[in-house]
Amino acid sequence: MLPLRKNIAEMAGYVPGFQPQEEGWIKLNTNENPFPPSPKVVEAITRELGADGDNLRKYPDAASRDARKVAAELYGFDPAWVIMANGSDELLNNLIRAFVDQGEEVGYIHPSYSYYATLAEIQGARIRTFGLTDDFRIADFPARYEGKLFFLTSPNAPLGCAFDNAYIEELAQRCAGMLVVDEAYVDFTDENAMQLVKNHRNIIVTRTFSKSYSLAGMRLGVAVAPPEVIVALDKIRDHYHLDRLALVAASAALSDQDYLQSTVTRVRATRDWFSSELRSIGYQIIPSHANYIFAAPRDRNGKRVYDGLFERKILVRYFSDPLLAHGLRISIGTREEMQATLAAMTEIG
Ligand SMILES: *Cc1c(COP(=O)(O)O)cnc(C)c1O
Repeated sequence: MLPLRKNIAEMAGYVPGFQPQEEGWIKLNTNENPFPPSPKVVEAITRELGADGDNLRKYPDAASRDARKVAAELYGFDPAWVIMANGSDELLNNLIRAFVDQGEEVGYIHPSYSYYATLAEIQGARIRTFGLTDDFRIADFPARYEGKLFFLTSPNAPLGCAFDNAYIEELAQRCAGMLVVDEAYVDFTDENAMQLVKNHRNIIVTRTFSKSYSLAGMRLGVAVAPPEVIVALDKIRDHYHLDRLALVAASAALSDQDYLQSTVTRVRATRDWFSSELRSIGYQIIPSHANYIFAAPRDRNGKRVYDGLFERKILVRYFSDPLLAHGLRISIGTREEMQATLAAMTEIG
């Protein structure tokens, strides 16, 4: 037998959403953006390659100074409060490594992002989950929460509800440890918690370039946190965690806010249209602040609709978890893709 650590030998590992290799699918299962990234990103990457790819001989800037500066300016922080990452998954991983020892506690809402559980298992941390009330508050959150880290996914995945800043501040005050606000989808809603970092020394905000910036394939994330947290995260990460192309892509994407707004506006409009159409054929829809909706058919049998869509080469996300099996998470694609999906769902009933 391999001399593996016990928790590694026993854990199952995370299973990412299915990525079909052949053409012809309408792919609405991993919350990717249906639009390409900003043309400025493509230009920046091409430029960075240099003649014959000559720039790739050289290591990238280990401190991602340019990208941090651009992000800091955009968010209104000093660069000492900002770190870039190889996807926001890297941040979530390193936050657990920085704050949570073996046997210590990590908390999060169930349902939310199931990768937190995998990361906690790798670390040998204890997991405590909290449910949601009908009005989308955390059920039974203690007056003083003693876990080392609490992950608040806002907007929530897969439900799409969001937590307002007054509530997030209240949670931060109740947390003895750190409150990580995972804002993977925040560009698709109106409010965000970024500025709260300035006034609460235990709030960390993480974001990704995978959804709103259409850069899932580039692997880019960013966090804003008090400088002492950034110092810790800088110690833990691989020194060359971001390659040259990712670094210039990050700066270019952040610098093109007009482009971000134009694609986000289109996704939001399609989301709102699709939600109201589904409601009119009897679906129950949670009002969404993200680029997906959680939709439940009248018979509350998500698997039946998933199978019907799968047969028609439309891929959405079904969760067998008892809290989620009554519905489906459907990412918002182009208007045409959603028209085809609506037609299929109308047929399936
Ligand atoms: C997609 C997602 C992430 C991960 O983003 P990457 O930057 O692609 O690693 C993190 N949290 C939530 C809630 C997500 O949905």
